[in-house]
Order: sequence, then C-alpha cells, then structure tokens
Amino acid sequence: MSRLRLAVIGVGHLGKEHARILSTMPGVSLVGVVDVNGDQAAEVAQRCHTRPFEDYRALLHEVDAAVIVTPTVTHHEVAGEFLNNGVSVLVEKPLTAAVEQAEELVDLAHRRGALLQVGHIERFNPAFEELQHRPLQPKFIMAQRLGFYTGRSTDIGAVFDLMIHDLDILLALVGSPVDKVEALGMSVLGGPEDMAHARLTFANGCIADLTASRISLEPSRRMQIWGPEGYARIDFARRVLTLLQPSEELLRRRKQIGLHDSSWTASLKQDLMRHHLQALDLDCNRGDQLTRELEDFVRCLRTGAQPRVPGEAGCKAVALASRVVESLRRHPWEPGHEPGLGPIDVPAPTGKLFAPDVDEAAA
Ligand code: NAD
Repeated sequence: MSRLRLAVIGVGHLGKEHARILSTMPGVSLVGVVDVNGDQAAEVAQRCHTRPFEDYRALLHEVDAAVIVTPTVTHHEVAGEFLNNGVSVLVEKPLTAAVEQAEELVDLAHRRGALLQVGHIERFNPAFEELQHRPLQPKFIMAQRLGFYTGRSTDIGAVFDLMIHDLDILLALVGSPVDKVEALGMSVLGGPEDMAHARLTFANGCIADLTASRISLEPSRRMQIWGPEGYARIDFARRVLTLLQPSEELLRRRKQIGLHDSSWTASLKQDLMRHHLQALDLDCNRGDQLTRELEDFVRCLRTGAQPRVPGEAGCKAVALASRVVESLRRHPWEPGHEPGLGPIDVPAPTGKLFAPDVDEAAA
C-alpha cells in the first residue's frame, strides 16, 4: 500500500499538533509543513522531520491531501486552491467565515471529485459518541462553552470561534431544521462579539440555549440535554457523560392523579438519586480526538468513504452561526434603539462597578 502524501498548512497553535500526529501516523508521509511565518514553519518541520515552506502553492502538485489550519478568513482561498487542483482537504472549523464561501467549497469538492472534511472535533469526543448510542430524544438543551482569552482567532467572533462547536453538535443531535434564532452578544475588547447567547427553536419543538465566551474567568465546555427518556450531561473537557433516568416506579407513579401523597413525597425526598432517578457516570477517555479525527480523514482518503463531518455539515454549521450573528447584530439594547448596531454599540456605561484602589484595599 503506497503512503499517502500529506501536508499541513498553517502550523501555529493547532496546526503544529496536526503535524506532530501526522508525522508518525502509519501509512502517511508528511511531505511538508507550511506557514507564512518562516521561523514557525522551520521549527515545526525540524521537530516533525519534514520540509518547511512559506507558500502553500509550492505543494499544490506534491500532495494527495492537505490539512488546513490557517486563520478562518484564509480557509476559502487556501482550501479553494487545493480543491481546484483535485487535492482533498481537511479544513479546521469553522469551514469559512461566510456561507457563500462554504457553499462554494462544497460545490468545488464535488466537481473535482475531492474529499472535503471539516474539523468539528467534538464529534470525535468519546462522551458525545457514547451519547449517540443512547435513545435520547432531545427536547431542551443548554450548552456552555467558556474559555480564557487566548489572543488567537481574533479574525472571527465568539460565535464562529466557540459556539459553532455546539451548533454543529446540535445539528447532528436534534436532526430537525431550526425555525427560529434569537441571540445577543457583546464586544468587550472591541471588534466582533467576545460573548454571545442564543436561543434556537427547532421545527420538532426542541429548544436550545447556548452561551459562548472567550473572556471567561473559568473555562467550561458542557452540554445538558433533557428528553422524555431522561437527562444527559456531557463534559467535553473531561470527556465524561452523565446519564439520569426515571425508575420504572417513577414512570408509573408520575402518570397517576394525586401522586403527591405524603409517603410518596417522603420516599422521593429520601431516595431520589438512589432509587427514583438512576444515575450513571461514564468516563469516556479513549484516545485523543484530534488523532481520531485525522485517522478518519486518512481512512476516508483511502477508502472513498464519507467522513463523519463532510463539507455539507461544516456548511450547515456556518449557515446557522451566520443566523446567530445576524440576530445578535439586530438586538435592540434599549426601547426605541435602532436595530442593526451590533455587539459593540451597547448603551454607554452609567458608572464604575467599583473603585479599584478603595475597594481592593478594603477587600
Ligand atoms: P494560530 O494563529 O495559532 O495559527 C495559524 C497559523 O497560520 C499561524 O502560524 C500563521 O502564521 C499561519 N498562516 C496564516 N496565514 C497563512 C497562509 N496563508 N498560509 C500558511 N500559513 C498561514 O491559530 P490557531 O489557533 O492554530 O487556529 C487556526 C485554525 O484552527 C482556525 O481556523 C481556528 O478556528 C481553528 N481551531 C480549531 C480548533 C478546534 O477545536 N477544532 C481549536 C483551535 C483552532
């Protein structure tokens, strides 16, 4: 079996990890790494025993596939060039910064017979995989994705940077079109929104509340899902799935009229979590998901199979993220406020929350 010739384009924070994993993957030859920052390319190339390049075009005819890990605003151009040459690509999330660009890439991949996969890595999170094996019909979902400020991905806002992970998960999980999107967002540092909240209403009646922030004091990547079968909580960072389901007795009793007799209420109070609601914690730590995402890409390149996250899925996530951003841009902050002013144009501050010198000294 011949080795697949791969390259990584953009070897910054995440791209260097892609390069590290591909440099030792069986059946793969990492023929080069590319970065407009020549020093960065050279350093990563040395570590991964491959060649450095500063211009991805040098590799257009040298590879079977490319992994594109450059800033989002460049994805359309870089992925477009490879696809146009019939070269398959794995593009980091979000696929592009605009829906039309994502649609163009999907169309180009079809026309050139190339594979287009998108790096929605949480689909490979074992806690999410485990949930997908369970018969839960999501009816109410709360998702939180909060991170420290990293200074990266400033070309996009918190919706395209962080919330898009959860938007993609929801599209995979709920399997119903989104009827309504209501959102608000705030820019704290200037530029696009640093934090956002969105409520989505799906055609099947499911409602999802999502919060994303990239200026959080505490990181958290969690999703809670309620359905008729019970409750699930995914901790994406710890890869733990917690499940809660009603006991047979509770299912029977909750249908009865006048169920709140005192002995039943006392039993609920005493034994709720031991008996009436059964809980299961599943620690799903099986392999790191970046490796599994890349293995999926390589497997699809070899077999022609459909990837778990094809370009179409990446495109749908970008389309939904765009609806969230449109909605938060229209949010009127005050009665009579002109809509369309965006996350920056919040009302003027009325004062300081505290006086740093005085209050800190007193604390
Ligand atoms: P980064 O800024 O650390 O790295 C980007 C690198 O690309 C830089 O080294 C830069 O010099 C290089 N670059 C810029 N333009 C280039 C070009 N035209 N050709 C070659 N190199 C170029 O950013 P990052 O945090 O690694 O993010 C990169 C991408 O990965 C973004 O799209 C981001 O959204 C995505 N990302 C995804 C996840 C995830 O969980 N899947 C996590 C982090 C980042």
